[in-house]
Amino acid sequence: MLPLARRVAFLSRLRQTINQSGALLRLSYPISIAASGSRSLEAVDNAGRPGPPPIQVGLTASAGRGIFASRRITSGDLIHTASPVVCYPSLATVHSVCYFCLRRLSNAGAELRASQTVSYCSDKCKDLSKAFRQVESSADWSAHDEYCRLQGLKYPLLVKRFACMVLAGEVAANYLDILQPAPLSSGMISEMEKGYHLLRNGFKEADIRSEQMSFLTKQWYVGLLARIRINAFRIELAGGLYEDLLSLATASVESEAAVGNAVYMLPSFYNHDCDPNAHIIWLEDASARTKALRDIEPGEELKICYIDASLGCDVRQALLSQGFGFHCNCDRCLSGD
Ligand SMILES: [Zn+2]
Ligand SMILES: [Zn+2]
Repeated sequence: MLPLARRVAFLSRLRQTINQSGALLRLSYPISIAASGSRSLEAVDNAGRPGPPPIQVGLTASAGRGIFASRRITSGDLIHTASPVVCYPSLATVHSVCYFCLRRLSNAGAELRASQTVSYCSDKCKDLSKAFRQVESSADWSAHDEYCRLQGLKYPLLVKRFACMVLAGEVAANYLDILQPAPLSSGMISEMEKGYHLLRNGFKEADIRSEQMSFLTKQWYVGLLARIRINAFRIELAGGLYEDLLSLATASVESEAAVGNAVYMLPSFYNHDCDPNAHIIWLEDASARTKALRDIEPGEELKICYIDASLGCDVRQALLSQGFGFHCNCDRCLSGD
């Protein structure tokens, strides 16, 4: 049993403004999730019934925005599903999972796949990848990807895909600006230099016009990486059916090794609690499903645990402070548990 909470998670506070499609929108609170119409944000009701999920984004007393129950939610309920804004397979699994949705591919055809650069689980995924893939495959990424492999870096790969999506016109360069960035030291920023130049050079050598690449500044790169650092989820597929997971009493499920990493919009709005009432799981692909771990009353804030909840209090505090930049004052921490 591996605790699913053991994955990189995300933020607690969000900015006051959301900038999409180049237009500045000021949000009123609370907003209904059903109002969001982004291609990359998918929300469904329990059991896949159409309709808004039972949640609203609102302001918390001390942690910026959060997600609140708009009606009573029962333990085990699937609260909503979200598609990633951007995801990327682990370098170790790139030949064994779908390049778009990270679904595991069958062993049949594995030999053929080894000779191909990337593979897909379906024509639909291939189609959805077409635009960014066209940009990506016009460049030679061997130096960039080798750098990531040697350094054990995964987030520059998400930046690469996101940059390809921007160049393909699929997403605005500032689409993820709404997410909370990780605080970075000057040492961390200078470590990002190499990845930045490898990314820029890749596009340059692919003859992408410099005016198209005007967004790709060092500041943009560092800002995006800072957001990805605390908002990316490490995806471990649980497999099987959601219903099977309902029989599990705890927040943990039997899971396989990570297939990749992804950044979502809505799941990034959940605040943290060391004794959470909600949890995010993955079944067969990168679609994130939020599940209620206990009964939740209307108006109650939904919280997930950003780290492994089975760790001791001191270790949790250290991880939250280093990784997410805050001191946890949840009931469990206050009781010293
Ligand atoms: Zn797929
Ligand atoms: Zn805590």
